[in-house]
Amino acid sequence: MTFAKTTLRRWKYLENLVFIFVFGYIFYYLITGFSQYSWATFSGKGFIYDFTNPIHTKEFYKCFLSVIGLLTSFYYLWEIGKLFIEVLKKEKNIKWSRTRLFNVFKEVRHRYQPTFLSSYFGELLTKLIVLDVFWILLPYFQKISLFTINFEWYSWIYAYLIWELSMWTWHYGAHKIRLFWCLHSPHHAPEELNMTVAWVHFFAEGYYSAAVQLVILMFLGVQPAMLLVIMSIETMWGTFIHAGERSFKDGRFGIMQKILITPSHHRVHHAKNPLYMDRNFCSFLPFWDWLFGTLQPQKKEIKIEYGITRKMDVTNFVDFYFGECFLLYKDVRNAKGLKNKILFMVKPPGWSPESVEHTAATVRANFIKENPELGYTSKDFLLNKIRKRRIVSVEDHMIENVKTV
Ligand SMILES: [Zn+2]
Ligand SMILES: [Zn+2]
Repeated sequence: MTFAKTTLRRWKYLENLVFIFVFGYIFYYLITGFSQYSWATFSGKGFIYDFTNPIHTKEFYKCFLSVIGLLTSFYYLWEIGKLFIEVLKKEKNIKWSRTRLFNVFKEVRHRYQPTFLSSYFGELLTKLIVLDVFWILLPYFQKISLFTINFEWYSWIYAYLIWELSMWTWHYGAHKIRLFWCLHSPHHAPEELNMTVAWVHFFAEGYYSAAVQLVILMFLGVQPAMLLVIMSIETMWGTFIHAGERSFKDGRFGIMQKILITPSHHRVHHAKNPLYMDRNFCSFLPFWDWLFGTLQPQKKEIKIEYGITRKMDVTNFVDFYFGECFLLYKDVRNAKGLKNKILFMVKPPGWSPESVEHTAATVRANFIKENPELGYTSKDFLLNKIRKRRIVSVEDHMIENVKTV
């Protein structure tokens, strides 16, 4: 065996060992946290207290948060438990043996190693460097406010819509600018959606997303005090929509899908199918996706395939977390001329000076050419409405002219 192969094998062992430790550590805290919280409910604290207390203080959004918080912690455990049962059922004829145990480990590792290691890695990094720069940067951006809104109920709706616009903008950039995609790709790399995928965020992503969001939020007059409320809803719902098929088989939530981003919408966002790539950037209200034409409902005809389009082993943490950065570095290094080097960084993933064939936009457009019935979006709906209006108004104008003649 060569030196490189031996080192790789040792590294793999090390990753497995760290995963077993991290899995045990986080799983233990999930179980004890959930059982203590549920137990406290029986004595009038826990969930009951968190739900009823905000009613007295008229902070109704906290009631919503307590329900989503409870569901989220329940479904973390539910999904892991169901996976264990699924794997054990698959091989029920085989007696307990080392092989059977190893197969269970392999299946659990495939789903949870990338997410658990990312979460732990992020936790370790926070001890070394500041990750959440949002509140540090905020006072500097406050100076650019055009105006400041009040705290009336309608201002809250405005503030939430502007928050969502800021989310849509950085998230769209994260998919369309390759440099930013390098930081966002770990969130999309898992090959299955489960609640823990919400934990996966590249540590440096917050540095630029905070700046993008703050420019929009502060410029358009959102009160910083409102952001605490908005961000807690965002965090809770943003985690909840990662519930996989083990939690909610369909995940559309009936009529709710018209007004809220549901797990089904976010499953589409995490899919690598040509029709689904680079869609559904919002995380609570689908308004901006609807307006900008990036809203894509899940289609029965197209079964979701999760992950990113390049081949990779999700249990190789280094590739999972830093792989896209390395590939961009290679492309920039090999590119001819400064212009191409810069273009590689700012153009969408898949772009090269020779072709745009592999970008998500081209892949999707080619798919829709072959399947036009699947390509109708909210943008087409809106454009059709505008066109029809124009035709009607032109006809009215002609009739007027005829009358005057
Ligand atoms: Zn994304
Ligand atoms: Zn996600």
